[in-house]
Amino acid sequence: MPRPNPRHPNYPIPSGPVLRAKGWRQEALLRLLENVLSVGEDPDNLIVYAALGKAARNWASHRAIVKALTEMDEDQTLVIQSGKPVGLLKTHAKAPLVIMANCNIVGQWAKAEVFYELQRKGLICWGGLTAGAWQYIGSQGVIQGTYEIFMRIAEKRFGGSLAGRFILTAGLGGMGGAQPLAGRMAGAAILCVDIDPARAAARKAVGYLEHVAPDLDTALSMIEAAVKEKRATSIGLVGNAAEIYPEIARRGIVPDIVTDQTSAHDLVYGYVPKGMSLDQVKGLRDDGQGQLMAASRASIVEHVSAMLDFQKRGAEVFDNGNLIRTQAREGGVANAFDIPIFTEAYLRPLFARAIGPFRWMALSGEESDIARIDDLVLDMFRDNGIVTNWIRLARENVPFEGLPARIAWLGHGERTALALAVNRLVAVGELKGPIAFSRDHLDAGAMTHPNIMTERMKDGSDAIADWPLLDAMLLSSSMADLVVIHSGGGGYAGYMTSCGVTIVADGTDAGAERLEQALTNDTSLGVIRYADAGYEESLDEIGKKGIGYVQVG
Ligand code: NAD
Repeated sequence: MPRPNPRHPNYPIPSGPVLRAKGWRQEALLRLLENVLSVGEDPDNLIVYAALGKAARNWASHRAIVKALTEMDEDQTLVIQSGKPVGLLKTHAKAPLVIMANCNIVGQWAKAEVFYELQRKGLICWGGLTAGAWQYIGSQGVIQGTYEIFMRIAEKRFGGSLAGRFILTAGLGGMGGAQPLAGRMAGAAILCVDIDPARAAARKAVGYLEHVAPDLDTALSMIEAAVKEKRATSIGLVGNAAEIYPEIARRGIVPDIVTDQTSAHDLVYGYVPKGMSLDQVKGLRDDGQGQLMAASRASIVEHVSAMLDFQKRGAEVFDNGNLIRTQAREGGVANAFDIPIFTEAYLRPLFARAIGPFRWMALSGEESDIARIDDLVLDMFRDNGIVTNWIRLARENVPFEGLPARIAWLGHGERTALALAVNRLVAVGELKGPIAFSRDHLDAGAMTHPNIMTERMKDGSDAIADWPLLDAMLLSSSMADLVVIHSGGGGYAGYMTSCGVTIVADGTDAGAERLEQALTNDTSLGVIRYADAGYEESLDEIGKKGIGYVQVG
């Protein structure tokens, strides 16, 4: 029986032991598809997150996918092109059940305007990273990443603690919604600006955001009080960041940390220019794209100029992966890239060891399955301070959305060991159902994005997209259940290519074989990618863990 979903009553959360498909592998993928809509931002339009990231091309495609997943045998592969199923073909039981290529446009054509036109004609859709790959788990998907960034900054600048520190950010959408909780978990007083009152209300309802202040004065005095008392808190404020950031700067207030997670990557469907209401923006999306792009870019110029101003006055400022610096530079802010990208600034040493955002979802719908795996992680990785600290914090503070799930930054060997141990728990009936393992596309071998993931790589290989393509081929050869290649759509068109993977721990020996090979090879390629670029940590990891790197020259 599906569980009720208070946020989107028409999209119940899949759960229970009854299968609609012919096996757990197919049922798992069906449940994950249902789950991305149950936790998505606008499921009626199949939109999951990041303004335009969709679960399927359209409702007819969605119905056809559901039918195929329900009826297919284990020795078939469903082929999906930009959210539309195009083939159900005979392969073999060790082949992926689903392969996808979403939103890949050849280089010279990969521009936002071309994408919008192809989308209008119904020929393409953008899968975001995890939306079209049915791997999105709500705001939790990026929460540990955001938390770890804040903690790296705490270590670098504030003696290891953010108590009594003020974080200013914007964007309370699907991914940005993780920020208030991550900031509070890190001990800070965090102010999150969003133009849409419904987004602030949604984050408050699910427990990610504590308060919504009625105006800027109140918000700032709430922050001031919390800072004075060194009390962690999260405050939402409805307003336009392009107005609020400059106003805070004008008042001479300098937050300790400043970032932004509005959908600045998309000037038409994402970012809301200052002075415009949400309805005005919606009205211009079809016929006023040029006007909207110009207005969004002009606002982003003011927004980023204020961020640079805070930086000049001593704040730690970073880009949180939304292309806001790129848009500002196109708008004439020549020094926009004085703001560093979070990956290079704080996380690259982890990625160089293929430590990244691994995740698992309880297909039974039972929270107790995640609690049991939390215990297992604490036991298996008791010497890994980052992971044990995170799991303790997460189980206390992170509310579940949709299928109960957990994210934890694990690396090569660790992911495989955990998944195999979980598969054994499924086999002996210690869990109520199988577990799906996946990861963000923002992972060591899985993403090329020269303004986010691969900015300023040591060897200058920032724009080379061979790595995610190799990853996808390797994962298909390694028996993963679902493998996907995504490129950027909307404002991300031409900026990125990534690979996603899902493998189901169904408690069988065949499941163990799939998990072992796919997870081991995925992180092997991640370490190899960074070793090839000359990162010492990767060479160390290769030496310690015996990864099959072929070193030429
Ligand atoms: P979303 O579309 O669900 O939410 C964006 C939010 O920004 C909305 O709530 C919107 O109301 C708000 N907004 C837009 N313009 C605004 C303005 N001028 N002032 C204040 N609020 C404004 O998007 P999301 O899923 O939360 O993703 C946000 C951005 O982060 C995207 O660019 C996405 O690609 C990026 N992202 C980064 C990472 C990462 O790893 N760092 C991960 C996922 C997404």
